[in-house]
Amino acid sequence: MPYIIIDEERCKGCGLCTVACPKKLVSLNDQPNALGYTVAVFNNQENCTGCCFCAEICPDVAITVFKEDLR
Ligand code: SF4
Ligand code: SF4
Repeated sequence: MPYIIIDEERCKGCGLCTVACPKKLVSLNDQPNALGYTVAVFNNQENCTGCCFCAEICPDVAITVFKEDLR
């Protein structure tokens, strides 16, 4: 099952990935992190298709998409 990992050190909370995901699986955190950014959060892995739209639109290269869950 595909999934994504969001690098919180890179994410600036721009929200582009939340719009790009056709399944609406990415949202912004309610609370800012230590740097003041409301970083992106991945929700509901069951519906991820691995399409990579979220990763492709991210200007900070903060999202990595995995096509298979090898964890
Ligand atoms: S890979 Fe596609 S379906 Fe999965 S979170 Fe990113 S945009 Fe959404
Ligand atoms: S597009 Fe990238 S920088 Fe913007 S909120 Fe999503 S993960 Fe963070």
